[in-house]
Amino acid sequence: MTNDKTLSRRQWGQSVLAVGAQLGLSSVGLPLRALSMGAPTAATLAMLMTEDAYAAQSDEYVPNLVVGTGYGGSVTALRLAQKGQQVTMLEMGRLWNTPGKDGKIFCKPFSPDDRAMWFKDRITAVFSTIGGVIPISSLLKVPVAAGILDVVSSPNMNVYLGRGVGGGSLVNLAMLITPYRETLQRILPTSISVDEMYKTYYPRALAGLKGNQIRPAYYQASAYHKYARVACAQAAKAGIPWRTLDSGYDMAYMEKEEAGTVPKSALGNEGGFGNNYGKNSLDKTYIADALGTGLVNIRPLTEVTSITRAADGRYVVATKQIDVTGTVLATRTISCDRLFLGGGSIGTTQLLVKARATGTLPNLNEHVGTRWSSNGEIFMVRNVHTSTGAKTSVLPVTGIDARDHRNQQVYSMNIAIPLGIDTFSTAHITMTQTPELGHFTYDAQSDKSVLQWGVTAKDEPTTSAHTVYDRINTVNGANYIKGWFAGKTVGDDSTYHPLGGCPIGLATSDIGEVKGYPGMYVTDSSLFPDSLIANPALSTAAMAERNIERIIAQMI
Ligand SMILES: Cc1cc2nc3c(=O)[nH]c(=O)nc-3n(C[C@H](O)[C@H](O)[C@H](O)COP(=O)(O)OP(=O)(O)OC[C@H]3O[C@@H](n4cnc5c(N)ncnc54)[C@H](O)[C@@H]3O)c2cc1C
Repeated sequence: MTNDKTLSRRQWGQSVLAVGAQLGLSSVGLPLRALSMGAPTAATLAMLMTEDAYAAQSDEYVPNLVVGTGYGGSVTALRLAQKGQQVTMLEMGRLWNTPGKDGKIFCKPFSPDDRAMWFKDRITAVFSTIGGVIPISSLLKVPVAAGILDVVSSPNMNVYLGRGVGGGSLVNLAMLITPYRETLQRILPTSISVDEMYKTYYPRALAGLKGNQIRPAYYQASAYHKYARVACAQAAKAGIPWRTLDSGYDMAYMEKEEAGTVPKSALGNEGGFGNNYGKNSLDKTYIADALGTGLVNIRPLTEVTSITRAADGRYVVATKQIDVTGTVLATRTISCDRLFLGGGSIGTTQLLVKARATGTLPNLNEHVGTRWSSNGEIFMVRNVHTSTGAKTSVLPVTGIDARDHRNQQVYSMNIAIPLGIDTFSTAHITMTQTPELGHFTYDAQSDKSVLQWGVTAKDEPTTSAHTVYDRINTVNGANYIKGWFAGKTVGDDSTYHPLGGCPIGLATSDIGEVKGYPGMYVTDSSLFPDSLIANPALSTAAMAERNIERIIAQMI
């Protein structure tokens, strides 16, 4: 659908984001009638935003409130708005559309600044040293501000998260992986049809996220994927199949990067602090489409700090609005008929565990805060004793499918070591089952819900990863490089893929409605009750597509 000769609704939504950011607005979204005004300009936006009463109000009511703008929240907001519902989205991170001093939205990985980390004074990485030589923690100090990458640390586990309008899609490696059938059959409640997930919701989410794959001929010829070709060849020699993977990065753009006709992003070391080009993050897809309905309003830098339920049955959230330095600008409450929790596995679970412990939502059941997993994630770097090339694509394109010592599925993706030199090494993130799961407890003193992840919970995933890569190493004469992980063969205390905390079918109904609380829904990766053994973004979007379809059917 177009509103004039040149702009689709998605493009119009993207323009709303861009112009809103230029104005430094605390709230972004335009009413439907503004569609007829064509491309939004600073002037039209400023005029229309004066009609947004938010800044002036101390408390307010909205019909549908979505907390968080990651995969679950964005899918939910778009589908509600397409059915004519007004939707308000709250996001604790920034709206990433304002260029910094270097003229770019996102900072460079090797010259990080106040855009890099979420209120930390130095960058954090899953690797303790670069190649066993340079300690990463001492390397790069950054100003403390509302940056894009957060690390939530608890005993034995560091969870990496994206902060901003678009959630994890802003910082992730854009892999869009459909999990193995045996995994979904094992972990989902039997009332959820796995067939329907594969037939309807995975394809729908993949299309919505603009999933695509690298062109085989380009992959084979590219200097930037040599490391992946070496890794795949070594796996194949050990009898382990490899495949190219679906990605939310625009592979046609990547080809142009290598040809030198467009600015480099994935091929220019960009990734974990955001991609200035090429990536179809949520702000370019679901969120742009949602804004394009004219019914969605997004409030960045606005965190939900608690949830309660009023006597009339409405949900009431307390919010804190900050600026990029962390100064609190306002605290308000917002009430709503329907509350959709899309703060991610950590964010949503922390809110609900706190609500149960402090008595603001006393009927939450004992499953809230349980079945948390790291997706069995294990990091490793191997010396492969052959050239892997000096150039690397930070956005990966290949992975392998293997079996561990108990014949359980292991999936591993090849990732880059973007140092600009030939390291003769390959790096991998392996995903597998986590028989020992985590849970959350509430600490009254700090007023925080804290992840409890046992020191032995990493043992089985580590053994699984070793089963696969010991074999690959033996066949190819390769070895683990321990220097990257403080003397260990693998990195076992971090994850990019937090899952669970509000397990579907236990803490919620099988469409995500929180048990004991009609009208309050969990929409995000906290629903998955176990490892997905696949990168979770696509599954999170697919599950949100499934659930919101059923929620809307019940609303009508
Ligand atoms: C470095 C990195 C690489 C990754 N690579 C991949 C990959 O290649 N493929 C893949 O599938 N997955 C990847 N992931 C994981 C993927 O991004 C997440 O699984 C996914 O984003 C989860 O979606 P979600 O909707 O559950 O939550 P999120 O996308 O995390 O979104 C939650 C949003 O809610 C906001 N929020 C949280 N609490 C509150 C609150 N109280 N108030 C207001 N806002 C709040 C957060 O700031 C965030 O923006 C990666 C993650 C990282 C960190």
